[in-house]
Amino acid sequence: MTSALAVKDLSAAIGSKQILDHLSIEVPFGEIHALMGPNGSGKSTLCHVLTGKPEYQVKGSASVNGDEILSLDVDERSRLGLLQSFQYPTEVPGVRLREFLLQAAEERRISSDEASERIENESRRFGVERFLDRSLNDDLSGGEMKRSEIFQIAVLRPRMALLDEIDSGLDIDAVRQVAEAVERMRSPELGVLLITHYSRILRYLAPDRIHVMIDGRIVDSGGSDLAGELETGGYEAVRARLGIERPTTEGPMRKPADFFTETPFDV
Ligand code: ADP
Ligand code: MG
Repeated sequence: MTSALAVKDLSAAIGSKQILDHLSIEVPFGEIHALMGPNGSGKSTLCHVLTGKPEYQVKGSASVNGDEILSLDVDERSRLGLLQSFQYPTEVPGVRLREFLLQAAEERRISSDEASERIENESRRFGVERFLDRSLNDDLSGGEMKRSEIFQIAVLRPRMALLDEIDSGLDIDAVRQVAEAVERMRSPELGVLLITHYSRILRYLAPDRIHVMIDGRIVDSGGSDLAGELETGGYEAVRARLGIERPTTEGPMRKPADFFTETPFDV
């Protein structure tokens, strides 16, 4: 059966820095998978490489709904059904959420009647009706922004959604709301990869599978047992069980610009 996402032996480097190391992961349609890993393990890089950010040297393969994507432009990948939510969605004054979505739907060849109907139904389902005629992300709380992102995905109906740190920066009530919204997006037509380094969202959401990423590789995959181990022992427990040494370096090397996309939490 064709999967929503199938990544095989994917390696990515910037210059001499190897970030992803023969990474393989598969997300079947209808499933929600969690990808967890400490800061700097390469989770966001995986998103960037899949969506087509240009600066990486990439090897391996990745397909969405059976179509190989690595040689395609960003917009072609998007039209094939790959969508990534923003970790820190930007405010866009003067562009209303409703207009933005109608335009995005047109790009994806969804008729305007169909798009309007989806906007009405999904906005009710996700409780975002009152944001529709406001500027994009204007004056929304962290939790509202993330709900709005998930609502947009529900309207545009991609085949594969990458949710990078959808839970970061949120208070615990907002994490629960976002987890419920993610669970509500579940559909046989969609695969979801929920990326996080913080296990608390798993208290409110039961992914079909959890993958742990350390140093650019998936080192373990499992179900709720793995969630329990992460909740109590953190990545240290997984490292110890698998005999993976802590890196001897000081931690991730970052350019100043990266600080704006980094999660406020550090565990
Ligand atoms: P995560 O999302 O898991 O926190 P990232 O994918 O952001 O991790 O980063 C993985 C590693 O790659 C880190 O060591 C980071 O410093 C490095 N890295 C990411 N982007 C760049 C870049 N543009 N140039 C050099 N190193 C980078
Ligand atoms: Mg990241």
